[in-house]
Amino acid sequence: MKTDSGVSFKLVISFASLCLFLPFSTLAQSPSASPHSKSGLLQPFTYRDVKLAGGPMGVQAKEARDFYLNLSEDNLLHGFRKRAGLPTPGNPMGGWYDPEGFAGAHPFGQYVSALARMFANTGDSRYKEKVARLVHGFHETLAADGYFYSSEKVHKEWPNYLYDKNCIGMRDAFNLTGNKEALVVLKKMTDWAVTNLPRRRDEWYTLPENLYSCHALTGDSRYLQMAKEYDYSKEFYDPFANGGNAFTPKLHAYSHVNTLMSAAKTYEVTGDEKYFKALENAWTFLTTTQMYASGGWGPGERFVTPGQGKFAESIEKSDSHFETPCGAYANVNLDRYMLRFTGSPKYGDNMERVLLNGMLATLPMQPDGKTFYYSDYRSGTQKKYFRDLWPCCSGTFAQITADYPLDIYFHNENGIYVNLFANSTVQWEHRKQAVTLEQVTDFPETDTTTLTIRMRKPDRFTLNVRVPAWTSGAVTVKINSKIVKVENSPGSFLKIERSWSDGDKVQVTLPMAPHYEAIAPESPNVRALLYGPMLLVALTDKPVSLTENDARINVVKGSNKLPAFHTHDDKLTFLPIHKVKDERYTTYFTIGAGSGG
Ligand SMILES: [Zn+2]
Repeated sequence: MKTDSGVSFKLVISFASLCLFLPFSTLAQSPSASPHSKSGLLQPFTYRDVKLAGGPMGVQAKEARDFYLNLSEDNLLHGFRKRAGLPTPGNPMGGWYDPEGFAGAHPFGQYVSALARMFANTGDSRYKEKVARLVHGFHETLAADGYFYSSEKVHKEWPNYLYDKNCIGMRDAFNLTGNKEALVVLKKMTDWAVTNLPRRRDEWYTLPENLYSCHALTGDSRYLQMAKEYDYSKEFYDPFANGGNAFTPKLHAYSHVNTLMSAAKTYEVTGDEKYFKALENAWTFLTTTQMYASGGWGPGERFVTPGQGKFAESIEKSDSHFETPCGAYANVNLDRYMLRFTGSPKYGDNMERVLLNGMLATLPMQPDGKTFYYSDYRSGTQKKYFRDLWPCCSGTFAQITADYPLDIYFHNENGIYVNLFANSTVQWEHRKQAVTLEQVTDFPETDTTTLTIRMRKPDRFTLNVRVPAWTSGAVTVKINSKIVKVENSPGSFLKIERSWSDGDKVQVTLPMAPHYEAIAPESPNVRALLYGPMLLVALTDKPVSLTENDARINVVKGSNKLPAFHTHDDKLTFLPIHKVKDERYTTYFTIGAGSGG
């Protein structure tokens, strides 16, 4: 809901675990004037600095690494080689990837990009060697003028989209694996693109982000010029910067969240405050007028006009509520930029929401190219793969999972920020001393994380831990098994500043409780159930309609780490959506005093 002043509201309806119904509360979010900096109040880590070690994110990232490492290079290059008149060992990939498919070889650059990121993270030379073979094989297929498409069809229909993705692939191959041939390929493709790309047609929206980074990498002024030619200010960034909501049902949802990354990069490069204002307002409108409880958005890949009940209608009308790997990739990238610019933990909260209930709730990639594309929030539905093989989401699945190491920690000159709770280690240098932080946790199945510090000699720095807005009840902090009092509140970073020594252990417990969220302010009775950050779905093949009394939730802590969740009369059982496999489930419930249970 948007008012004339551009202030948005989100209704949050809560049930405490003791089954007390709490009345509606409104959270107003002011869209401006927070401290921020284009160089970042927080700094990111590199792929090399952070290692995942199991847990839901670590397991999914490892599965993805194994999957993309095993893709056949001959198959990936088949269409390019055929067009170039070269021998074509291997087989066509099928689906969207075929030269005459929906967008021939469109994720090729994304796969190369992800493999380069995987090498940067793991140091495993197999990824670097695969990148080198793919770059070389692709190079051999380039025409003399730099034309690079696998077919005339894809050149005509998706010229910018393909240049964009291949740019990312060659940029990351050079930047993250040191492959010099990738730079040659990038230059040749650009020789063709500068003259021939039809500006701002098809899906071009992230081009400025990549063109600015290609300029920084090469110093070639053509990238800078093109970045300006593709600027989306007039139609999209300016309305947000002026306090308006430019998310309209006419626009393709994923690419119009993705294009905010171009605004973020432009802000980072130019420092023009207009882009920051646009980002801040767009993020607020996205999260308060477009977002399901999962962190997903864009039913049928379109935005929804707020305030007209259309969001609640979308639940049964659509079976394609969120283009998940692509949308989550855009969302997490936006959150990461904003977290860096502002240091505000609300961006970490949002990142956690969409990673846990979006990406971690997907089905794994299949060797034949079956890909999880849409999250489905209809009543009694099941998770399923997309109808076509190798769609766009097979490209972003590779990239977002390869980027998990970038999402967990941030730092500044004063210390370290723990943004996500995931089994991992991070290394950084504090005042010329190498420091390692190891995080061990069963989150989100339990509410506790343990952080162990490794350093040669004691030194002072601040350990900041995100206290999510969902935190319910008192946060407990133990240092070396002793409870210490640390000031904190939900929706902040708690700060522990002291002299740390090798082996110091910090245990933080962030209590979770069941709470309901209304789908939209105008549909207060259509609600999803959450426990901490986890979206809980009802295991049923039917719509769920409950009275306020029936909707009370019992949390049963048994021998499993994850508690069991039931309505207090035991008629309905709930499971976090990221734990659902092939069970039928219902995500949104109608809850009202007058409806039967
Ligand atoms: Zn997609």
